[in-house]
Amino acid sequence: MKYADLHIHTNFSDSTFTPEEVAVAADEKGLSAIAICDHDCVDGIEPCQKEASRFGIEVVPGIELTVEKHDAEIHILGYFIGSKVEWFRSKLDDMRKDRIGRIYKMVEKLNAVGVNVNAEDVFKLAGRGAVGRLHLAQAMIKTGKVKGLREVFGKYIGFQKPCYVPHVKFTPREAIETILKTGGVPVLAHPGIMNKDEYIPELMEYGLKGIEVYHTDHKAGVVKHYEELCRQYGLLATGGSDCHGLGKGRVLIGTTRVPYELVERLKAKAEEIRNESR
Ligand code: AMP
Ligand code: FE
Ligand code: FE
Ligand code: ZN
Repeated sequence: MKYADLHIHTNFSDSTFTPEEVAVAADEKGLSAIAICDHDCVDGIEPCQKEASRFGIEVVPGIELTVEKHDAEIHILGYFIGSKVEWFRSKLDDMRKDRIGRIYKMVEKLNAVGVNVNAEDVFKLAGRGAVGRLHLAQAMIKTGKVKGLREVFGKYIGFQKPCYVPHVKFTPREAIETILKTGGVPVLAHPGIMNKDEYIPELMEYGLKGIEVYHTDHKAGVVKHYEELCRQYGLLATGGSDCHGLGKGRVLIGTTRVPYELVERLKAKAEEIRNESR
């Protein structure tokens, strides 16, 4: 059987693994395909493809976009996106610039409550990619003021916690339409974390094509629930580990995987989307 892990980050967002290290790890796990889904960045895709081709591993070009509702943070994955489309790349550039301003604002809030973290340390951890809260979390833990990710997100920078600062305003419709316009397939990421199923019909109106049913943070009951929702709504059921290298402690690549056939179904769906827009 051939398998794919369709949700993997590189150090072009908040993983500690370079794209090349991701390819090597995918080979060690015996995967036939992986999808690189960095937050707001597509620069990890090509170097990963190059390295993975040595092992005969297919790398699906992907993205993970963040949008917000007043009461929820929603992550939208895009598969087979047009990672070389110029307007898309420049939009992502803008979003990454906004992430920098957002870190300064969160650092200011943290300093005000006595967590003395330095913005430059956070940027150093992020390197050349998209800086985010996981980098900030790592810098906070280094100060010794906070114990671990649970405390960091639970008390300080989790969604709508006291030191949280929202992303630049990006609506669910904009995110889904952006992915579609590049020729990609929009999929709702890890809905079990968001826990707001009532938004799914609205996302489908904008063009959502699938749900990430299989995910590290989805227990068996949650998986069953979303498998059923996919059947009911006629959506693709995708899955991936959401591996962040050592960023969340354990290397997850390959621990959640789906049959390779799903890659072919996503490819066919992307083809459909491209034909429709012609
Ligand atoms: P950002 O894109 O800056 O909003 O950061 C979002 C990222 O922070 C997610 O993709 C996760 O990697 C991480 N994150 C968010 N909430 C948690 C949490 N409760 N525990 C660990 N990591 C989290
Ligand atoms: Fe992340
Ligand atoms: Fe996510
Ligand atoms: Zn992710």
